[in-house]
Amino acid sequence: MTEGEHLGDAFRLDREKQLLKQYYAGQQMESPNGGFLICLGIRQEETGDAVGIFECNASWLRYEVAIRKATRTERKKVRDALTSGEEPACPRCVMSARLVRAGKSLVCNHCGIAYGKV
Ligand SMILES: [Zn+2]
Repeated sequence: MTEGEHLGDAFRLDREKQLLKQYYAGQQMESPNGGFLICLGIRQEETGDAVGIFECNASWLRYEVAIRKATRTERKKVRDALTSGEEPACPRCVMSARLVRAGKSLVCNHCGIAYGKV
């Protein structure tokens, strides 16, 4: 094991950015150990960031990938859609993920990030 460093019971990946790009695009994500990474779930943090938990389907190793909270530009995109009466979609996920209400927040179920308030 040369890639990633051990972190509790999960590993960190060196290519997080590239991996997340593939995740947002709904593409298959290659695992550093061969096989593919399967998303087991997204955990939301209090900071607005999220953590994606991925498992390699060849080695069964688990990886945690930090997902950055919404940027100002992304929030504005969602706010603009709301103002013009459109159904806001996730500005990050290419597979046109709809934002859903979670309490007072508008959250993408795919990346787990809140992009606005209702
Ligand atoms: Zn998303």
